Amino acid sequence: MSKLILALSIIVVIAGGCNTKEESRGGKPHIVATTGMLYDAVINIGRDKITAEAIMGPGVDPHLYKATQGDLSKFNKADMIVYNGIQLEGKMSDILKKLGRQKPTVAAAESIPIERLKSAVGYKDAYDPHVWFDINRWKYAVKSVSHALIKLDSANQKFYEINTQAYFSQLDSLDMYVRSRLSEIPENQRILVTAHDAFVYFGDAYGIRVEALQGISTVADFGLKDIANLIDLIIENNIKAIFVETSVSEKSINAVITGCKEKGHDVKIGGYLYSDAMGEFGTSEGTYLGMFRKNVETIVNALK
Ligand code: ZN
Repeated sequence: MSKLILALSIIVVIAGGCNTKEESRGGKPHIVATTGMLYDAVINIGRDKITAEAIMGPGVDPHLYKATQGDLSKFNKADMIVYNGIQLEGKMSDILKKLGRQKPTVAAAESIPIERLKSAVGYKDAYDPHVWFDINRWKYAVKSVSHALIKLDSANQKFYEINTQAYFSQLDSLDMYVRSRLSEIPENQRILVTAHDAFVYFGDAYGIRVEALQGISTVADFGLKDIANLIDLIIENNIKAIFVETSVSEKSINAVITGCKEKGHDVKIGGYLYSDAMGEFGTSEGTYLGMFRKNVETIVNALK
């Protein structure tokens, strides 16, 4: 008799343990995304059938970011992890690879066909990870998030498919908006100068020449020669505005502005661009669509 009671109580304890974890999320899959852009895709597709959180918030530079103890516990509790890949999260690669052997893990940007990726200048056999700035390339990444969610939670397949389609139509409208707004800039003024090279895909997709002080990663340093070259380019092309990024220090761009002034050319800061991080969650700039629109408005207003 006492043995039976003991056995029963063990069963109750085990079942209770499972329930607590499930109940806290209402039994929904919990998704952890590294960047805000990916988090936005996850919540637009998963909506109320999932819970989600992002590792890197506004102003965070993913090239330099190292996972904290808190991030590791978030990764460990996740049912699925979504990250950009193509070495964007350079200092978290080993952790993400390891987690990939333990649970569903998606390197969303790596689903883009390799022939549509741009080589990373200065890095052997490496590609540029900033794929979210061409909406059509980004759709591959969104699709891979959608496929992964369906695989994880096939009972809600239809729901995820409908939401993916709805998100795609919003992305298509955004693409049209971007093209129409950028056409307001005179052709010879379509040059985007930023601190680090995050806009190569943007330039490629929307016909804008992009120039940056630093390469595609903020890890690499730049020298006085790079500053001098950029100053010459700005003066030669009579560029009136250059841009600061929310996740990169302003110091380098200010050095370029001072250098131009010394040579008698007045160039101003055209505004802040969201490059590798979005705005505050809960604001328009904290969404992929709002962030992209805001960047385009900033660029057009400064260069037209
Ligand atoms: Zn970057």
